[in-house]
Amino acid sequence: MKAIQLVKPQAEPELRDIDKPSPGPGQVLLKITAAGACHSDDFVMNLPAEGFVYPIPMTLGHEGAGVVAEVGSGVTSVSEGTSVVVYGPWGCGVCAFCSRGLENYCSNAAELKISPPGLGAPGAMAEYMIVDDPRHLVPIGDLDPIETVPLTDAGLTPYHAIKPSLPKLVGGSTAVVLGAGGLGHIAIQMLRHLSPARIIALDVTDEKLEFAKSVGAHEAVLSNADAVANVRAITGKEGATAVFDFVGYQPTIDIAMGVVGTMGDVTIVGIGDGVAAAKVGIWAQPYEVSVRAPYWGARSELIEVIDLARDGVLDVAVERFSLDDGVEAYRKLAANKLRGRAVVVPD
Ligand code: NAD
Ligand code: ZN
Repeated sequence: MKAIQLVKPQAEPELRDIDKPSPGPGQVLLKITAAGACHSDDFVMNLPAEGFVYPIPMTLGHEGAGVVAEVGSGVTSVSEGTSVVVYGPWGCGVCAFCSRGLENYCSNAAELKISPPGLGAPGAMAEYMIVDDPRHLVPIGDLDPIETVPLTDAGLTPYHAIKPSLPKLVGGSTAVVLGAGGLGHIAIQMLRHLSPARIIALDVTDEKLEFAKSVGAHEAVLSNADAVANVRAITGKEGATAVFDFVGYQPTIDIAMGVVGTMGDVTIVGIGDGVAAAKVGIWAQPYEVSVRAPYWGARSELIEVIDLARDGVLDVAVERFSLDDGVEAYRKLAANKLRGRAVVVPD
């Protein structure tokens, strides 16, 4: 079968022909209907060869949707033909975090060598993939897999990031979204639907700002040296109530810390260069600001996000590519040329 694989660090992924897998006991084989490309893939691909932690060759794709093609022995909770999306941050299923659905924070995953598909285990950028356990599948019914697959990360991650700030996002509050890309454009829609906050989006081109407004941002501001002043001109003295950084480089973290107001939240979701950080101290920011850096989201939250999609409140922007053009999808992602999410669809 065809697969988009990371073959060596700091190089483009490759379209390769590999063996079709078959499900072992307890596993599920999916025939892939859609796979999303995430900026985190780009981060992984650009890591230095020395100390590279991912097994190569590795099939990419941690956002997957498919139809159950075959179940391994002992699997009774899903059946062939069901259309599903894959919950990606696989855990042990047994520890205290996993028991709360927070498999993204599994205490045993590292020790048990459990990795998410596309980030260690073989991912969804292929004709078929193996899912380790049926609990990692969420049925999507008649939702379109192509528009739904980004919700497994570009939807779930902002949802998990936004939820803890919702009690603060009351009438008259302000939410700032840095980066209106795959994650950011869904974050804006979730904030619009889940809160009455005024939403200010920042990005680096007028095109992206127009896109942010088209998905629901009330205001759009260029992310440049004047950004803090320009955002504060909108928020007034109180500053922003909650800031979500979907970029994570030092300049955006500095903007986030510069616009947040007293008792506000700063949530750093973007990985940036992997080392940028916020400075926190008694006078480093307004009083009682909370800073968080979450990773992905809970299994229960993916079900909630799919329910939001069923309610028709999320309009996910996708650019569609064939598996043969999967490498091109990653090129466009790296060049910042996408509107929304790149989704690869096998023929
Ligand atoms: P993307 O490429 O689709 O979107 C990034 C957006 O940020 C683009 O619109 C780009 O124009 C904009 N941008 C770039 N530089 C900017 C700047 N200086 N100021 C404002 N905007 C800027 O990426 P994505 O797939 O949405 O991922 C966003 C980030 O989140 C990446 O760093 C990714 O690795 C990370 N991520 C983290 C998690 C997590 O669990 N913490 C999960 C998924 C993705
Ligand atoms: Zn991702």
